[in-house]
Amino acid sequence: MKRIAVLTSGGDAPGMNAAIRAVTRCALDRGWEVLGVRHGYAGLIEGHFVELNVRSVGGIMQHGGTVLGSTRCQEFMTPEGRAKAVGHAERERIEGLVIIGGDGSQKGAALLSQTDLAIVGVASTIDNDLVGSETTIGVDTALNIALEAIDRLKTTASSHQRAFLVEVMGRNCGYLALMAGIAGGAEVIAVPEVDTPPDQIATDLRDAYARGKAHALAVVAEGARQNAAALAAYFSEHHARIGFELRSTTLGHVQRGGQPTAYDRLLATRLGAAAVDALAHGDRGVLVGVVSGRIATTPLAEIVDKRKALDPALIKLAGILAR
Ligand code: ADP
Repeated sequence: MKRIAVLTSGGDAPGMNAAIRAVTRCALDRGWEVLGVRHGYAGLIEGHFVELNVRSVGGIMQHGGTVLGSTRCQEFMTPEGRAKAVGHAERERIEGLVIIGGDGSQKGAALLSQTDLAIVGVASTIDNDLVGSETTIGVDTALNIALEAIDRLKTTASSHQRAFLVEVMGRNCGYLALMAGIAGGAEVIAVPEVDTPPDQIATDLRDAYARGKAHALAVVAEGARQNAAALAAYFSEHHARIGFELRSTTLGHVQRGGQPTAYDRLLATRLGAAAVDALAHGDRGVLVGVVSGRIATTPLAEIVDKRKALDPALIKLAGILAR
């Protein structure tokens, strides 16, 4: 291996910059050349490369987002788009490509690994919905941001006339909502994986006050059937019967921003370094992630089209702790 490229793809996640830095410096340390691809797969299709050196990845680790940029790219979903991407990689004499991203990005990585390019994926998404890694770059930061909002709302929520709701990210996966709900001591947690009727949510929130709690707070995932919009509509329609208001806060992209936590910087650094090791060992078509608490590789072909399940024991525990 002499020349590699690195790209960030899909939803950006705090810590991606630390992964770019680790990939670059570890590869340079082996005497390889490193190119950065701008704007994910779109940049690969357009041939948008920048040479990376030790200095160009300095001072980036503490910033959220990604200095290389990240987009969602429809063209890459087509065989023609991917052929263009591979053509540019060949012209640039790129032998290995590190793809830092989530579930969708790793599906694209699996397709690219059917070519001559040596592909190594790095598990990075705040949703933590990627099979092949128990945790992913950005999750810890997103969780801490959600927790800060929950803690603040709890101190202002002491009123029997209203309940509070925080909507966190997670289109198909309720990991963030479940973990933020447990760590924040929420009375109700709604996730896409479990369908809780809206009346049950209203009852659970009211019962929290009846049991002498000083607050009633729900944490819901954006992809839950009873997300912020659905519950706001339900509470306003049934206000007279429910007897209290619901005040919603949707965190949205706030969760992606901000400085990566120490945990995310270290995780991203270790995964980035392991991606370079994997390329050096001749691994191809693998994802670098955390498996049984250790950094390990899993073939990309084994992880695509699989869905990570929420731990049922944690869902049960959340219910017990909400008493
Ligand atoms: P994430 O990687 O954060 O899950 P997306 O799901 O948006 O984000 O995927 C990022 C990009 O990966 C997409 O814009 C597309 O270019 C590529 N991609 C996603 N799914 C596929 C797929 N099934 N086949 C090929 N490329 C894909």
